[in-house]
Amino acid sequence: MNNYQWTCPHCDRPQTGGDPNTHYGIEYLGVGETEAGTVGYTVFAQRCLNESCNKLTLELNVHPVYYQGGWKAKSSSKIFSERLIPRGASVPQPEFIPAPIRSDYEEACLIRDLSPKASATLSRRCIQGMIRDFAGISKGTLDAEIKALTEAVDNHTADRAITLESVYAIDHVRKIGNIGAHMEKDINVIIDVDPGEAQALINLVELLLREWYVERHQRQERLAAVASIRQEKDQAKLQPPASPALQAPAPSGASDPIQNG
Ligand SMILES: [Zn+2]
Repeated sequence: MNNYQWTCPHCDRPQTGGDPNTHYGIEYLGVGETEAGTVGYTVFAQRCLNESCNKLTLELNVHPVYYQGGWKAKSSSKIFSERLIPRGASVPQPEFIPAPIRSDYEEACLIRDLSPKASATLSRRCIQGMIRDFAGISKGTLDAEIKALTEAVDNHTADRAITLESVYAIDHVRKIGNIGAHMEKDINVIIDVDPGEAQALINLVELLLREWYVERHQRQERLAAVASIRQEKDQAKLQPPASPALQAPAPSGASDPIQNG
C-alpha cells in the first residue's frame, strides 16, 4: 500500500502510514445473491508508530463485491462502514478538561449513528457543563445560559478565551433544525434529531473544548513560563556578588585594634 498521511485516533499524532504497518483485506461472503448482489467485507487496519501509543486502529466495511482476477469492492455503495477500534469518532481530549465533560463528549461521538437523539442530548449536556464550569454561568435552561454568556462576552466579563466567534458558533448551531427549539427545554429532554444535527453539536463541543479549555491552558502555561524566568532573575539579583574577602576569611586570632578600646 502506498504511503499516506493519517492521524491516530487514539493519541491524535499525525503520521505517515503504509507498509509494513498497514493491512488491507477483502473477503467474499458465500451467502448467495443478496438484495445488494454478491457481498463481501473489507478490513483496514493500521498500527500507530508513536512508540508511547503503538495501538491498533481497525475499520470494517461491508459492500457489494465483484470478481476480476480477485475480489474487488464496490466501495461507492457501502452497506456497512464502521471503525471498530477505537469505537466512535471522538478526538482524544487532554486531561485538564473536567472528566464528566470529556466522558459526555466521548459518549456523544460513540452513539452518534446508532442513536442521534441520545448523542444530541449528551452534546447539549456537555455544552451546558462547559458553560457552567468554564464561564461560571448557571441558569435554569441551556438557552438562558447561552443568552447570559453572550451578554458576558459583550460586557467583557467573560474569560477572554471565550471569543465572540465561539458564541456565534453556538448561536449558529441553535438555528439548526430541532436543536434550537430544544435548547430552550431542559437538557435532559430527549429530542428527535438526525445524524447530521448530532454531528453539528459534536463539532460545536470540539470547537468549545479547543477554544476555551485548550486556549486557556496554553495561556496559563505561557504565563507560568514568564513568571518562572522572572523569579530566576529576581533570585539572581538577591544573590550577593562573590568577593575575595568572603572567599578567604580573615585568619583567626588577628588583632582588632578596636576590640579592647
Ligand atoms: Zn497513536
